[in-house]
Amino acid sequence: MNYLVVGSGLFGAVFAHELAEHGNNVKIIEKRDHIAGNIYTKVVDGIQVHQYGAHIFHTSNKEVWDYVHQFANFNRFTNSPIANYKGKMYNLPFNMNTFSEMWGVKTPQEAMAKINEQRQEMAGKKPQNLEEQAISLIGRDIYEKLIKGYTEKQWGRKATELPAFIIKRLPVRLVYDNNYFNDDYQGIPIGGYTKMIENMLDHPNIEIELNTDFFDKKDEYLKSYEKVVYTGMIDKFFDYKLGELEYRSLKFETEEKDVNNYQGNAVINYTDAETPYTRVIEHKHFEFGKSDYKDKTIVTREYPADWKRGDEPYYPINNYRNNQLYKEYKKLAEKENDKVIFGGRLGQYKYYNMDQVIAAARKSVQIVLRKNNEKN
Ligand code: FAD
Ligand code: UDP
Repeated sequence: MNYLVVGSGLFGAVFAHELAEHGNNVKIIEKRDHIAGNIYTKVVDGIQVHQYGAHIFHTSNKEVWDYVHQFANFNRFTNSPIANYKGKMYNLPFNMNTFSEMWGVKTPQEAMAKINEQRQEMAGKKPQNLEEQAISLIGRDIYEKLIKGYTEKQWGRKATELPAFIIKRLPVRLVYDNNYFNDDYQGIPIGGYTKMIENMLDHPNIEIELNTDFFDKKDEYLKSYEKVVYTGMIDKFFDYKLGELEYRSLKFETEEKDVNNYQGNAVINYTDAETPYTRVIEHKHFEFGKSDYKDKTIVTREYPADWKRGDEPYYPINNYRNNQLYKEYKKLAEKENDKVIFGGRLGQYKYYNMDQVIAAARKSVQIVLRKNNEKN
């Protein structure tokens, strides 16, 4: 069959690879001038630069971990970001190092006693929003210094207006362990994410056309391909006819510096409300084990920004209003099911990590391949 895949991000690339491997012809169109979507990395001064923000691959899904190893080897980078709150440094995620820095406690028992005392504020109440969730998880001191400012900058909304689930992503530990993730597997592809996507797409049945927007010829594309896999914004596909879903955008400010080591860590979060950026990343530190540090480094500051039509929609805002609206769009999408498959962070309007995108793409493509088999 002849397929059109709209978008060469991780979802589109996995989907295209699997289709091609099963004998289908795949044309990919991508509106940017490069493949790989938001996981795109490019080499500058010998350093892999994460063009659209820090990307650390982590998963507990062994099938996904094995799957990506067909396309890349991974280094053993472990994400351990540091928070800078008004000049004082704290370890993340919330663990014994953080509790010790915050309260001077030394043992898990002392830390637990302090946390329990702070949580009292929420005793007997079910958290209704991110602020309440954070306080009931970890107490007000940490909420005020390490969560509130960062979260309100990141999402452009009060923490009381945000869904609780966002903060549940972060682990809380009573051990001295700064690993940001609880997952079994973690690392960064050696040679960069772009190379990994190139390897997925390196197939005689796959043709890629860059700088091409689906909406320039939507009707023609829908007519000329048997099936379309669409990884752009779902509301845009339907011409926003039920209203706009909300997104959060970002601006990246990247600078080369003539020093060997600028901040001593890959990621430093600025958790106060006044600093306009949320985090500063120093790209060379993602390349764990690479020791040829010259007097050159590249840093990127990440500024959260409101989204309006035409901006890059980096994050879906999965609050109640948007999730309800998405459900309505999903109903429209289901009606197109025989022709169009919606996938990825924007097509499914989900705050997906990379491993979840891969799992979702594999599941979705398996259904399509099974249906094709049944037809033949
Ligand atoms: P995308 O990467 O957005 O790909 C969609 C592609 O479709 C894009 O290339 C886009 O240009 C193209 N497209 C859209 N519309 C059209 C159109 N009309 N015509 C043609 N092409 C179109 N995940 C992790 O697991 N670990 C992390 O550390 C992590 N960090 C992140 C940091 C940031 C700042 C962000 C924003 C995300 C992060 N993620 C992380 C999530 C990760 O980026 C996503 O899960 C993944 O990239 C989603 O892949 P996708 O294919 O769904 O979307
Ligand atoms: N967060 C925070 N302080 C931090 C880091 C994260 O309050 O120093 C909150 C913030 O609300 C953020 C959420 O935790 O949106 C999830 O953080 P994560 O690092 O997973 O965000 P992502 O990498 O997806 O932007």
